[in-house]
Amino acid sequence: MSGFSEFNYLDGELHAESIPLQNIAEQFGTPCYVYSRAAIVSAYHAFEKAFGAREHLICYAVKANSNLAVLNLLARLGSGFDIVSGGELQRVITAGGDPRKIVFSGVGKNREEMRMALAANILCFNVESHTELQQLDKLAGEMNKIAPVSLRVNPDVDAKTHPYISTGLKENKFGVPVSEAISIYQSSQQFPHIKFTGLDCHIGSQLTELSPFMQASEKMLHLLEQLQSQGIFIEHLDLGGGLGIRYLDETPPSIKDYVSSLCTSTAQLKQRLLIEPGRSMIGNAGLLLTRTEYLKHTPDRNFAVVDAAMNDLLRPALYDAYHHILPVQQKTGEMHEYQIVGPICETGDFLGKNRKLSLTSGDLLAVMSAGAYGMSMSSNYNTRPRAAEVMTDGNQVHLIRKRETIDELIATETMLAE
Ligand SMILES: *Cc1c(COP(=O)(O)O)cnc(C)c1O
Repeated sequence: MSGFSEFNYLDGELHAESIPLQNIAEQFGTPCYVYSRAAIVSAYHAFEKAFGAREHLICYAVKANSNLAVLNLLARLGSGFDIVSGGELQRVITAGGDPRKIVFSGVGKNREEMRMALAANILCFNVESHTELQQLDKLAGEMNKIAPVSLRVNPDVDAKTHPYISTGLKENKFGVPVSEAISIYQSSQQFPHIKFTGLDCHIGSQLTELSPFMQASEKMLHLLEQLQSQGIFIEHLDLGGGLGIRYLDETPPSIKDYVSSLCTSTAQLKQRLLIEPGRSMIGNAGLLLTRTEYLKHTPDRNFAVVDAAMNDLLRPALYDAYHHILPVQQKTGEMHEYQIVGPICETGDFLGKNRKLSLTSGDLLAVMSAGAYGMSMSSNYNTRPRAAEVMTDGNQVHLIRKRETIDELIATETMLAE
């Protein structure tokens, strides 16, 4: 058993749905991201089903994995989208996403991005400051539009996650404090081209407990009541994303339990509920396939140098994150403890530490739980072309992004004439 629903061993060989990863490596080369269509669809359905009859919209957080095939698949299932840039807006529209299901988050939306989103008639801008509101009002006025706005409130709860991905504490850069939110909603007459339609929060990522979500939703509920008592009516409550997944031995709430408790804690509201899941939609639906180049034994340690690196999957280097690393071919040989490292000139360039494996150079490894914040955080550091991406669908495999070429990497650069 691999522990991953669509990635399983059959006759000692790791498969993605019914395709041997070995075949994918031969056909598309390595490093290569592999996503399972079935796993994405089943996560989406789990969210949908858990809402039951409650009026809602799932806005997939595009930054987790923004491949057009992933976005198109979710758009076909009826998903909405949470974007954080003009680039993501263009991706969603290209992939067939419905602009009326797009919410636009982020602390630093620039003018051009605001204009793009106003022109596309998106569902809502999740605004994070008073100055942002002033700018949006001005631009909407110039375009003769009314911008639908949800204020992102910082509920000041401890998400108990990695500090880099914790966003809902008062010292974080995100959102406006609860105390300020009311006065901003009250000042709506100062913003003739803004319509307040929602209330929003997002407290962090990779949360493995329900309690911070509950605390945040209670605070939001309280704030909504205060707004209502002042005659300010809001159409939707957006509770953000952040549900964690299992990388090692975490026991995050299930999608079902998470959604049910959000629904229960807001049962008295008639507003539509929005959520913005990213990682929990795609994280465990993808893996990074890599080949062992060299085994290096020093008196202290054993290194397996693989062809994927921190530019392909940054999470271990950035957050000291753990990913399971499975052999594509199960072996019975002697096990050693390996440091799984990439070819990049940084000591931080590792994918896994102290992994017990039986390895020969040339062996394929699967870095698991790499569907979210894998390819989307990749770079060209060390002039490494970014990996190919494929999606399996039963016994079919589709190339959804070609491996970059070195020519493409340098094509946009120019030298000084003299
Ligand atoms: C990153 C982000 C999300 C998605 O977070 P996950 O942990 O991937 O679910 C949702 N909303 C906002 C505003 C974000 O910045």
